[in-house]
Amino acid sequence: MESIFNLLLSDLVEYFISINEKPFKAKQIFDWLYKKRVYAFKEMSNISKSLADKLIANFSIDMLIMKRKQTSKLTNKYLFELEDGNLIEAVLMRHDYGNSICVSSQVGCNMGCSFCESGRLKKVRDLEAGEIVRQILMIEEDIKERISSVVIMGIGEPFDNYDNIMKFIRIINDPLGIAIGARHITVSTSGIIPRIYDYANEEIQTNLAISLHAPNNDLRSRIMQVNKAYKIEELIIAIREYIAKTNRRVTIEYVMLKGVNDSLRNALELANLIEGLNVYVNLIPYNETSHIKYKKSSNEAIMAFYDKLKKCGINVTVRKEFGGKIDAACGQLRASEVEK
Ligand code: SAH
Ligand code: SF4
Repeated sequence: MESIFNLLLSDLVEYFISINEKPFKAKQIFDWLYKKRVYAFKEMSNISKSLADKLIANFSIDMLIMKRKQTSKLTNKYLFELEDGNLIEAVLMRHDYGNSICVSSQVGCNMGCSFCESGRLKKVRDLEAGEIVRQILMIEEDIKERISSVVIMGIGEPFDNYDNIMKFIRIINDPLGIAIGARHITVSTSGIIPRIYDYANEEIQTNLAISLHAPNNDLRSRIMQVNKAYKIEELIIAIREYIAKTNRRVTIEYVMLKGVNDSLRNALELANLIEGLNVYVNLIPYNETSHIKYKKSSNEAIMAFYDKLKKCGINVTVRKEFGGKIDAACGQLRASEVEK
């Protein structure tokens, strides 16, 4: 049965029209779901019993099941079970400017980046829009606080599930829904170029982050399979065109792998590659996992890389390490549970 959380407000309007109900019922349902947070049609006091019965017959309103939760000072990591028993993760991060959450977009990932736990277990299926929406609802309910920003950087490749991701974004961005501002929503992709062009045409002020992780094709193809299909030069052109079209600054993610991509030569090469682009580089300290051979770069190597980029005039930050101790890198909690 279709989940009610998969529906845009406009989908609900269409549904009510199709069953000869007043279209404003759609707003009432959104209000119950996303403002009052009532997850039972029968408890919606302005919905008649007969209409509630129709809704019950047509839509599921089930939430996800919280299987595990790990907490540390600034982070909560959640393992959720879906209706079909599959497991996904979401991470809450508390910043001084508000709460942000990192949501999963697929069960597993097919992109096969060699350093990533999510990719180690192949994709089982795409997530529906409503399964991503409910990751937010579940966490807000758990912490009894609002979430102010969302990054689609959990398990999965969002641009390999493009339509559901865009639907998810429109549902949470709706002022009558969870009402998360577009500028506070970021999609991270490993670089599926045709979808970057699509995303540029969406006419919504959300953000884009690109997992670059290497400054040349040789190295990038070694650690990211996706680079065999979509070469770095083409990726840079796509980023350039995205910026030209949207006027928005793009984040370049660069995970620091010891002895692999963290030399000063790599830094210089990266600086040359992105010179003149309206981007900023986010250096990510690698989160080591027991199944994968890569090691995290030393703090000295990260700082030297950072300084080199700075000297070349590149905007750069080092990502604060969240939850290393609680398996917070995407996919680790799920992998440990699935393999039990
Ligand atoms: N598939 C998308 C989004 C999910 S991965 C993408 O690749 O962009 C989110 C980010 O986490 C990516 O930049 C990814 O390279 C990075 N990542 C994966 N495993 C990691 C690890 N063990 N430590 C640190 N970052 C990791
Ligand atoms: Fe998939 Fe992203 Fe992990 Fe690569 S880094 S395997 S694209 S989740």
